[in-house]
Amino acid sequence: MDTNSLAKDIQQDVISWRRDLHQIPEIGLDLEHTSSYIRAKLDEFGITYRRAAKTGVVALIAGEEPGPTLALRADMDGLPIKEETGLSFASTNGNMHACGHDAHMAMLLGAARIIYGIRSRLRGNVKLLFQPGEEGYFGAARMIDDGCLEDPVVDAVAGLHVGQIFPELATGQVGVCEGPILAASTRFEVTVKGNSTHGALPHLGVDAITIASEIILSLQKIVSREMNPLCPVVLTIGQIQGGEAHNIITPRVIFGGDFRTLYEEDRCFITRRLTEICTSTAEANRAKAEVKMLGGYPSTSNDPDFTKRLIKNASKVIGPENIIEIKKPNMGTEDMSFYFGKVPGVFFVIGSGNKKKNITYPHHNSKFDLDEDVLWIGPAVFTNLALDYLR
Ligand SMILES: [Zn+2]
Ligand SMILES: [Zn+2]
Repeated sequence: MDTNSLAKDIQQDVISWRRDLHQIPEIGLDLEHTSSYIRAKLDEFGITYRRAAKTGVVALIAGEEPGPTLALRADMDGLPIKEETGLSFASTNGNMHACGHDAHMAMLLGAARIIYGIRSRLRGNVKLLFQPGEEGYFGAARMIDDGCLEDPVVDAVAGLHVGQIFPELATGQVGVCEGPILAASTRFEVTVKGNSTHGALPHLGVDAITIASEIILSLQKIVSREMNPLCPVVLTIGQIQGGEAHNIITPRVIFGGDFRTLYEEDRCFITRRLTEICTSTAEANRAKAEVKMLGGYPSTSNDPDFTKRLIKNASKVIGPENIIEIKKPNMGTEDMSFYFGKVPGVFFVIGSGNKKKNITYPHHNSKFDLDEDVLWIGPAVFTNLALDYLR
């Protein structure tokens, strides 16, 4: 049987796994129920695995003959959102799969079952990475620390995302591009230290609020006045704290945010300028500023050769006319980027919004949903990619 028929054959199973997982969304790295569900399915299929990153699962399908190892990755975590979809299989525990990671797991299980069934055709191995903690918990980095790319050593990695991240994708189309497809995020926190005094006697203190305000406005000028306008950058201050009363000049303000970049040189430049602007503006105003860079996710950048391989294999599934080249990357992030820091690979998107079915709500919205009719595509693309790479 060809891979498209194999994938369409298990479409109903993939949908039912997705619905099961949709009801039990968990947060961060603590995904005990989700992890047990995945492991029970792998047991049922006969695929061996070990645990990593607390509740992650690393499974291995060894081919008949030796060869390279391809890793296929699905993220597993939900979000602390109260679901309002009204679906018959809505979440039962107060959290929500509002990013589609339930579908990612179900599709990877589907791919696992198909690939295990045809493992005699593989020269090399397929490793399945079920990874917790994508939504800001550095789950991929934890998986790598726990050796998920070793024993056997992974040579390439592929992952996907469903949804409406790229509005140019119609339902069931695959979107991908060579190079950056998603941004890097860098978090920071700034503490401005002045001196308190009576609100009527400003000359006896140093007002951290006016100084912080000046710094915050100046930081936006990095984006508008110091960056090449053709290099996308977003800088957001999302938190600010300070002050006790209306008549006290505040000695201390803490604000924090993150900035997003596509290219490493931009990330380095902004890190340096942000620090300079904060410390020198504070100093010019008789205050001090302490800047903490808190790290973040690197940009998700697709390997050009592996992207061509993906396009070739996805074309066999849905036809070349349904493969869309992403021209404008999204400034969101993905910790898939941590794997790409170690091995080449590709991250692609399957359009799963559908206006005709009123499936239009954005990711991380309490009414987010996806068109389940596309759920055979992920397993089919993954299987073709494995057969081609491990030929
Ligand atoms: Zn998300
Ligand atoms: Zn996501």
